[in-house]
Amino acid sequence: MSDIISLASRVTQIAPSPTLAVNAKAKALKAAGEDILNFSVGEPDFDTPLHICEAGKKAIDDGHTRYTAVPGIPELREAVANRFREDHGWEYSPEQIQVCCGGKHGLYNIFQAVIDPGDEVLIPAPYWVSYPPMVQLAGGTPVIVPLDEKDDFDLNPDILADYATDRTKAILVNSPSNPTGSLLSASALEAIGRMALEKGWLVITDDIYDTITYLDGDLPHILDVDSRLKDQTVVLNGVSKSFAMTGWRIGYSAGPDHIIKAMNKIQSQSTSNPSAPAQYAALAALTGPQDFPATMQEAFVPRRDFFVQDLRSIKGVSCVNPKGAFYVFPNFSSYYGKSFQGKTITDSVSLSDYFLDQAKVASVPGIAFGADDFIRFSFATSMEIIQEGMQRIRDALAQLS
Ligand code: PMP
Ligand code: GLU
Repeated sequence: MSDIISLASRVTQIAPSPTLAVNAKAKALKAAGEDILNFSVGEPDFDTPLHICEAGKKAIDDGHTRYTAVPGIPELREAVANRFREDHGWEYSPEQIQVCCGGKHGLYNIFQAVIDPGDEVLIPAPYWVSYPPMVQLAGGTPVIVPLDEKDDFDLNPDILADYATDRTKAILVNSPSNPTGSLLSASALEAIGRMALEKGWLVITDDIYDTITYLDGDLPHILDVDSRLKDQTVVLNGVSKSFAMTGWRIGYSAGPDHIIKAMNKIQSQSTSNPSAPAQYAALAALTGPQDFPATMQEAFVPRRDFFVQDLRSIKGVSCVNPKGAFYVFPNFSSYYGKSFQGKTITDSVSLSDYFLDQAKVASVPGIAFGADDFIRFSFATSMEIIQEGMQRIRDALAQLS
């Protein structure tokens, strides 16, 4: 049957989220009885803490089942403002906060609010899969700024100017990064901040992994560079990763009044408020005990250490040690060109497919993050699965010649 109705060109220029696509495929294979080890999607393997679930249930019992204010219930916006003040010393009024349907939705609202056709957004690569399509959906042009594995995927300040044009409107900062787990150094942030001030760029800082770091000291932040940056920065965060609440769909942004107001206008004409019970659950997350992210982080450390060391012990594989988030991003390019039973591995997609077919291991090809030499594995899964998965990967690689 032919498609009678043509689709909008904005849809035809983007692909579905590859992380969610691989996860769906792995789950379907598992449901069909295949022994799949799933390292694809990035979500904590912890349950949402009980007190948060209870708050969500209580909200329903208390009748919080109707529309709320578009940018979120005042108590939650206040709680977000308090967390920012207590954790970072940043002053935001509740009117400068928008609560939305997950961090992804917050980013979408930001781009819709500030990007016009022709505007360029600087995106350091490897990047999270959804940044370029979201810029494109807003009519903008993603401009990819390459980061080098040799620099631990830090930004080389000297190259920033090479990618800036008079059409640059914004720059994305994501530290800790998905997919590399790397951080931007204080000097890289300084260079970004100085250039943003000089050129009048918007800085969009996606801090969704900021509670999951493997650092002794504080995480450097773009807002530490110069207090004036606050007037041209939107901070994006949420409870998905920090409180294992991916399914609740609550994110939040903080920024200059006029940008948040514009984002609220968009939200009022698209989703309205995020789910009311989920907002009360998020309120319990932000105002209750704050030890949960540290508990998760502690569990991630031995998994990360094992994964990185085991990957590095394979001939021809390099792997940067992640300083945050829960991903390893090894370089397998020395295996490209090798074959098994007449099939040649040519790139990250064919290698990731080979891992799935041959080793029953689900991963995300690096090309989805703009880095074809690499494959992403999430270590938000048990040590047993990581050990078993690594054995299978080793065996699969050993069969290539
Ligand atoms: N930013 C990054 C870098 C992410 O990895 C994710 C994970 N999905 C998000 C934003 C969005 O998170 P969510 O929509 O699940 O809150
Ligand atoms: N951010 C997670 C990931 O990268 C969740 C999937 C998604 O939203 O793309 O796997």
